[in-house]
Amino acid sequence: MIKDSYIKTVIEPHKIKSVEPIKFTSSEERAEILEKAGLNTFLIPADDVLIDLLTDSGTSAMSSRQWAGILDGDESYAGSRSFFRMEAMIKKIMGFEYIIPTHQGRAAEKILFSIVGGEGKVIPNNTHFDTTRANVEFSGAEAIDCLTAEGKNPEIIADFKGNMDVARLEQVIQEHGVENIPLVMVTVTNNSGGGQPVSMANIKQVRAICDKYKLPLFLDACRFAENAYFIKLREDGYADKTPMEIAQEMFSYADGATMSAKKDALVNIGGFLAMNNDELATECRNLLIITEGFPTYGGLAGRDLEAIAQGLEEVLDEDYLHYRIRSTTYLGNKLTELGIPILQPPGGHAIYLDAKRFAPHIVPEKYAAQSIVCALYLDGGIRAVEIGSVMFGKKGKDGEFIAPPMELVRLAIPRRVYTQSHIDYVIEVVNHVFQRRDTLKGLNIVYESPMLRHFTARFEYAD
Ligand SMILES: *Cc1c(COP(=O)(O)O)cnc(C)c1O
Repeated sequence: MIKDSYIKTVIEPHKIKSVEPIKFTSSEERAEILEKAGLNTFLIPADDVLIDLLTDSGTSAMSSRQWAGILDGDESYAGSRSFFRMEAMIKKIMGFEYIIPTHQGRAAEKILFSIVGGEGKVIPNNTHFDTTRANVEFSGAEAIDCLTAEGKNPEIIADFKGNMDVARLEQVIQEHGVENIPLVMVTVTNNSGGGQPVSMANIKQVRAICDKYKLPLFLDACRFAENAYFIKLREDGYADKTPMEIAQEMFSYADGATMSAKKDALVNIGGFLAMNNDELATECRNLLIITEGFPTYGGLAGRDLEAIAQGLEEVLDEDYLHYRIRSTTYLGNKLTELGIPILQPPGGHAIYLDAKRFAPHIVPEKYAAQSIVCALYLDGGIRAVEIGSVMFGKKGKDGEFIAPPMELVRLAIPRRVYTQSHIDYVIEVVNHVFQRRDTLKGLNIVYESPMLRHFTARFEYAD
């Protein structure tokens, strides 16, 4: 990074070797496409999207070295060289003894919770990501979130809104009985809570409670590098440490981790499970063999393992992290300057529009956030995702509508994919929608599936 004080512009720390055209559409075309998709942007073909901010998962641009690794990957069934390279890299960062590759993060969760979960068991976490919660619950266990009160308030600006409420954690352990808690999890950064980081001090406090009750601590490590960089920027005593040193310290307090390589390993597919307990690792590997594959490839090709190894090295590069966090913050700050309400402060991987303040005239059961998602597509071909009443709204016993606490529109930023001019374009489109916010209409659901309805629901405008 350029350290000269007269330079203010943060530039992309890479140049572009290979480009992929994006398709421009007219507003008439987009109106037709959106209508055909039942006003659900999940149902729009990706080719009809100009800027795709649906997710940061598996959407990273790989580097030329990662692509070189794809060609160089060793496809041996057993004992692949690429596995050993990946294993060595993960051991260097995380320090765990046993590394088990899986095809993505949820496969690691499925294996872990099939073994440690089950009826009567309880898993505490700062906030379970939806696949984590689903895998815990599918095993018969209960998933409990212990986020601090500050972390639940979208308007408070604080450094570490992903922190675990440690008093609540201890209460959960005592209420449910230590014998029913197989492990404690901490998600870094806290994806479902707005990509907010967890402090080193908080990880240490959680470790102390785990020590007191002799419980293992696992990190849901999907965005460990972004979390490490936030610690460097915001926590006393870390400014002069490298992201690698900070990550190493974070993992030194844990006994294991689950990881989706589709996030901070900068690849399009992959994940792994890592731990120190050899009995547990043996059980996990046995399950891996019948579900994913042989322990030196899991659910992946040798080339994928190679790309993960390289990606893990690149993600801890300080120039990359500086650009990554600053570019997300740039989007958040520009929107804030325009008076557009967002969840504060900007997180690591996404900016969340606060639909309740953006379009207060639309009641939760008319899906304000989904209406904004539609407008972003109509006005500028941008694809965002609703995180509100469509995704989490429920019906009570008497059929009454129960809204979740927040109505959000997530603008997730794929890693290394878009340049600053793409983001400036996004800012312009969001502002355009904001200026015409009074014209936004509520929606009615005309079709929904019994589970995870947001993927396939169809809508109509309410009048
Ligand atoms: C994405 C994600 C997962 C699940 O990983 P997949 O690779 O999508 O299966 C788990 N936890 C967190 C925090 C995530 O962001």
